[in-house]
Amino acid sequence: HAKELGRNTYQFFSAEMNARALEKLNLETSLRQALKRGELFLVYQPQLDLASGRITGVEALARWRHPEKGLIPPEKFIPIAEETGLILPLGEWVLRTACAQARAWQAAGVPGLRIAVNVSARQFNHPEFLETVERILQETGLDPNLLELELTESIVMENVQDAIMTLTDLKVRNIHLAIDDFGTGYSSLTYLKHFPIDRIKIAQEFVRDIPNDADDAAIVEAILAMAGSLNLEVIAEGVERKDQLGFLHQRRCKEMQGYYFARPMPAEQLAEIFSRGLAREPACLYEG
Ligand code: C2E
Ligand code: MG
Ligand code: MG
Ligand code: MG
Repeated sequence: HAKELGRNTYQFFSAEMNARALEKLNLETSLRQALKRGELFLVYQPQLDLASGRITGVEALARWRHPEKGLIPPEKFIPIAEETGLILPLGEWVLRTACAQARAWQAAGVPGLRIAVNVSARQFNHPEFLETVERILQETGLDPNLLELELTESIVMENVQDAIMTLTDLKVRNIHLAIDDFGTGYSSLTYLKHFPIDRIKIAQEFVRDIPNDADDAAIVEAILAMAGSLNLEVIAEGVERKDQLGFLHQRRCKEMQGYYFARPMPAEQLAEIFSRGLAREPACLYEG
């Protein structure tokens, strides 16, 4: 009986695994076409300076509108792109599109707006990464200081010596460097002082349950305190509610990103917000 059950379980899993493998293969095939067919596009999420209420930067986030399946989230297609190596052309497209958009905003009179672009491990470790970034900056005419590259802890911790060299190469070119999803990996702030990093992004998962979750509150507090003493800029991700904002503000977190302020949106939609200059009135941020 046990044997039979075992076999059934095995068959069940194998059928499910086949279906999944097939879905992945389908996605891989259509992702190859997606770039050429123009199915990928970028949305941009504002990053705010709390004191002034001004938008200091925007994070570019990739979207894929599949002709039959509709909108596919990056959690689904980025890992496939990474596994298959498609992340290289995809990442280059993201970088070029984001830099061109930032340059266009600058030309339209939005001064000093920084564009943040997510970089995957495969891109960062590619021998031609630096040249690609430089070429794109040249082509688009964007000031390197207005480009921020977001890297996760695991990317820079994978091969520390190589990572420090690549980061230094980027830094001497004046490119801004951020650690994304900070706190979820295996690095520590004291370790990060060896990296030429400009800022850290406090991971959404620690922001989600502050101020009520005592552990998360302690972690966020510790990150803010240490970032302060190491002279790193800090931005909190995933700020959705006023109580989160209040907690962060009290502990001198100056920059924030999250649905509370603005969702990621197409470039055309942001133009309207830029014309007002503020994402929210500063007064409205402080009250209560
Ligand atoms: P991420 O870089 O940490 O980006 C932040 C994610 O949090 C985005 O999800 C954003 O829409 C979401 N978010 C922002 N504010 C809030 C909030 O207040 N509440 C909640 N619940 N979520 C919020 P998205 O766009 O689905 O992207 C997911 C992940 O996919 C990104 O996480 C990033 O790791 C990856 N990704 C997206 N675009 C790219 C890309 O062009 N290249 C690479 N390599 N990865 C990308
Ligand atoms: Mg990011
Ligand atoms: Mg993040
Ligand atoms: Mg992430």
